[in-house]
Amino acid sequence: MIAEEHNAKNREYRGIGTGSGIAMAKAVIVHRGEAVIPVITLEPEKIEQEIARFRESLFISREQLLKIRATVAKTMGEEAAGVIDAQLMLLSDPFLVDETEKLIKLKRVNAEHALDTVIQGAIESLGESKDPTFQDRVHDLNDIRSRIISNLLGLKGQTIPMPEEESILVISHLAPSETAQLFGSKYVGLVTEIGGFTSHIAIMSRTMNLPAVLGVENATEDIKRGEEVIVNSMKGIVIVNPDEETEKSYNKLKSIYIKRRKLIEKYIPKKAVTPDGHKVSVGANMELPEEVPMAKHFGADGIGLFRTELLYMKSDKLPSEDEQFEVYKNIASQIKPDSAIIRTFDVGGDKFAGILTHHHYEPNPFLGWRAIRIGLEYPEILKTQICAILRASNFGNLKIMFPMISLPEELKRARELVEECKDILRERGEKFNEKIEVGIMVEVPSAAILSRKLAEMCDFMSIGTNDLIQYTLAADRGNPRVAHIYQSYQPAVLKLIKMTIDSAHLEGRWAGLCGEFAGYVLAVPLLLGMGLDEFSVVPARVPLVKTIINHFPYSEARVMAEEVMQFTTEEEVISYLSERVKEFLPKEIIEFEVID
Ligand code: PEP
Ligand code: MG
Repeated sequence: MIAEEHNAKNREYRGIGTGSGIAMAKAVIVHRGEAVIPVITLEPEKIEQEIARFRESLFISREQLLKIRATVAKTMGEEAAGVIDAQLMLLSDPFLVDETEKLIKLKRVNAEHALDTVIQGAIESLGESKDPTFQDRVHDLNDIRSRIISNLLGLKGQTIPMPEEESILVISHLAPSETAQLFGSKYVGLVTEIGGFTSHIAIMSRTMNLPAVLGVENATEDIKRGEEVIVNSMKGIVIVNPDEETEKSYNKLKSIYIKRRKLIEKYIPKKAVTPDGHKVSVGANMELPEEVPMAKHFGADGIGLFRTELLYMKSDKLPSEDEQFEVYKNIASQIKPDSAIIRTFDVGGDKFAGILTHHHYEPNPFLGWRAIRIGLEYPEILKTQICAILRASNFGNLKIMFPMISLPEELKRARELVEECKDILRERGEKFNEKIEVGIMVEVPSAAILSRKLAEMCDFMSIGTNDLIQYTLAADRGNPRVAHIYQSYQPAVLKLIKMTIDSAHLEGRWAGLCGEFAGYVLAVPLLLGMGLDEFSVVPARVPLVKTIINHFPYSEARVMAEEVMQFTTEEEVISYLSERVKEFLPKEIIEFEVID
């Protein structure tokens, strides 16, 4: 880019918005220099000394992280502090520690170089997946590498400058410990080059209500120190050097946003009941046990979807029954007396898990070897997970949910596996909830079409629109070229949703929806009118869904849902819904969505 372009007005950059608000202030840019790592060949008698030096650096790193963890726990709560545990665990990871020591011995090299080689190898073996949970693992490895190497080299950790005035921090990435430093500082917004929606930075910035846009490529190069920056974390947009008009519309947006936040916060302790007395439940979606307190904080009625893929992605070993049991038990005990739906592993598709899918090339991964299909081909792997969930069901209210069911035979076999697991546990004398509910995700059109039969065979159904939309319209959910066909409000999709809810009710079951769609302003009253029993959304969106439900009469929502079924295009549906919701929803909600 030439210099003039750098200073141009209204430069817009896109990234991943964390949904934690909007901010405007001047930019502080932090460029991160990598430490130069020396390569030294050791005399044989120096090897033991080098290993001792390496162990000491691990000890110092642990002490530093524990201190940071304690500060974060005190200022931001246990859930935020929990994200530092991933790095603490790496410090005693046998792979990292043993391999580094082996390399020091075998190659007779210094600890910095050995550690760097081991971590580089681990990062390369993770491949180039764009999966956010996968990238988080890479960030953890990079962060722990910098920390240990700084300690080995005797460098003081690079700190983030603390400004005197309100500022936006623009930086390549942040370690959890550094994100924690922003709490209570003058930083009112954050832009990073690396980080996904589920990354530590995203989780912590939502907890702190710090507006952040992550994954903005070249941000530290393109944005200059002192430039005015708008961070719109609701839309994932960064505007640099805004002109007067943009600034004005931003200020308007901000005041609406503040009013909206004040309004929806009032609904956190309330139940989701329509003005005419129809009650539904609003759960939270999550993938880390550390998010449970956040779900409670935002007033969720339990966990509507706990994704377990992370357990399978974080290491090159399959998670053991005991390891999984600890995770599920932790969730069950925290969320009690509410329930948590644990979804069995949904790896495959775009969710790459090295251990299960690493050497397996597929031309059409979304139509291929994924989720329950893997579990039924390797029942021992799925049974390990089911046994862990069953054992944990003794400590709270857990339910099991199978993803990607496309045929009744799959559900039949999966249920048989649950029974086999119960037998195993009985034999071992382990306690579990004999009456544990077993449900399925409806995310393949065949499952929606066969929903009556499937409902008869299980206890509940949760509609996964993220996938159902892509499979109904044959439009890859991650491919921007077909994004215009990936239409959430397309009547073809809405009919499948309605059909599933009706089938569940005819069989005396309840139906939930845990795709992103459950949190859209226009979709909430529509789904309410279709008779949906449970909405499950990211924790921060729970209060918004409750606010909408508390304003929308069920009788009106039912009429609206009937009407919508007459349309044939998404455009017609959206324009109809946009008009109707104005009659019932507070203007703070509608205005914001319109401008947004
Ligand atoms: C869905 O498909 O809507 C869903 C919730 O599952 P995931 O996004 O994990 O595929
Ligand atoms: Mg899905």
